[in-house]
Parts: sequence; structure tokens; C-alpha cells
Amino acid sequence: MFQVHQIPALKDNYFWLIQPDIRSSDCFIVDPGAFESIDDYLRAHNLKPKAILLTHHHHDHVDGAQELGSKYRLPIYGPMSDRMPQVTHYLKGGDSLALNSLTANVLALPGHTLDHIAYFIETPEGSPMLFSGDTIFACGCGRLFDGTAALLHSSLQKIAALPENTLIYAAHEYTLSNIKFAFHIEPDNEDLKIRNIRETLKREQQIPTLPTQLALEKKTNPFLRSHLTSVRATIQRETQDQLVSDVDFFARLRLMKDSF
Ligand SMILES: [Zn+2]
Repeated sequence: MFQVHQIPALKDNYFWLIQPDIRSSDCFIVDPGAFESIDDYLRAHNLKPKAILLTHHHHDHVDGAQELGSKYRLPIYGPMSDRMPQVTHYLKGGDSLALNSLTANVLALPGHTLDHIAYFIETPEGSPMLFSGDTIFACGCGRLFDGTAALLHSSLQKIAALPENTLIYAAHEYTLSNIKFAFHIEPDNEDLKIRNIRETLKREQQIPTLPTQLALEKKTNPFLRSHLTSVRATIQRETQDQLVSDVDFFARLRLMKDSF
């Protein structure tokens, strides 16, 4: 039986630790954006890190990597990028990586950044897991830094094609503000109304809203719904441009969120 540990840190980040088998203290660190919170957690829970897995170069995902890597003598996996000097082992889409008894399949998910990757892990006893960095969030998606809307759209399509029960371990607690925007796009979405009540209750009790499930995202996340007439109608209403393709609508939706 595996376990995923969640460490809230910085302003609104979550760092994730994957423990492939709870009978062993071995674990794998995903996107350590700070040294101390992770080091404290490892020591408090008597966990032994085996490797670091990075998704992209942003500082709140990598800042603890070097120090943890040298303290625990860990290999650091990540995309080939001249912005990620801390990576010791390069990964690209299609690669796989053994995490003791689990296997992480690497997905190339460019858009938020050009070289963003994610880790998809099937589990013997339950839902598959996606460690998605800043590609997708609960009810939202990452901003465009050096990628394009077309790239991010195709990356989100890749996520949408994963099994419906996939649990998405995103890196930020942005859910409530994302839901506000989702309501702006789809004010009549009944699933979104229910979700809003549930997630608001969680946050009032300081319970994380992540991981989220892909099936729920497909019902409530506007960035997975830009092909739907209801969503397209709202987007088209707010622009003079004649939008045609799925990417047109998605790109406009991302722009609307930027200035929401
Ligand atoms: Zn980022």
C-alpha cells in the first residue's frame, strides 16, 4: 500500500512526497520548492528520500532541490533545460522511471513553460495519480509563461485522455479563486455549484482541496470545457474577434482569466 504525503508550504504551494510502500520509509520528493519544510517533514515522519522529481524550473518548485539533493545524496530528475542546472538525470515525454514498486510515466506537458513535464503513476490498489506541476489546477490551469495557448491546450487534452478516476496532485491551492472565474464562464453549471459549496467548506476548515479527480475537473474546469457550446457562448460574448477553433476559444479563455 502506497501513501502520498502533502506538505503545504510557501504562500499556497503543496509539496508532495510519494511513499511507494508504507512498510518501507523510502519516499520520492516531487517539486521541493523549499528545503526546510521538506527536511523537517522527512525527519518528523522518519522518511528516507530516494530521489527528487521536478516538473519545471520555477523557483517555488525547485528551490529546495539542490540542498536536499546534497544532504541526502539524491539523484534529481527533471526535463532537459538550461534553466534547471540542478537536474542530474534528464527525462522526456515517454520515459518511465521506477519508484521502487511503482512506475512513473513521464508526460511532456508544455504550455505553462516550454519544457514542463508531469509524472503519471498507476497504482495497484486504486486510482492512478498525476503529479502535474503547474499545468492543471482544481478548476483552472497554469498561466502561459514561455509556452503558447495551443501547446497548453494540447497538454490539457492529454490530461483529459487519462483515466477518469485519475487523481491530480497539482502544486497550488488556487481552487476557490478558480471557482469564481469558472462561475463567470458557466453560471448555470450545477456540478460547479455543488463543488463550490464543498470546496468552500473545506477551506473554512483549512482542509486542502487537492488532490482533485479528473472526472470532477471535466464537469467543472472551464479549461477542459472550451469545446462546449455553453462555455463558448460566454467566451464569444466577451470579444469582437470571430473565434472558430477549439484553440481560439481556449486561448481567449486563458486571456480572460489573466485579467479576471
Ligand atoms: Zn510554475
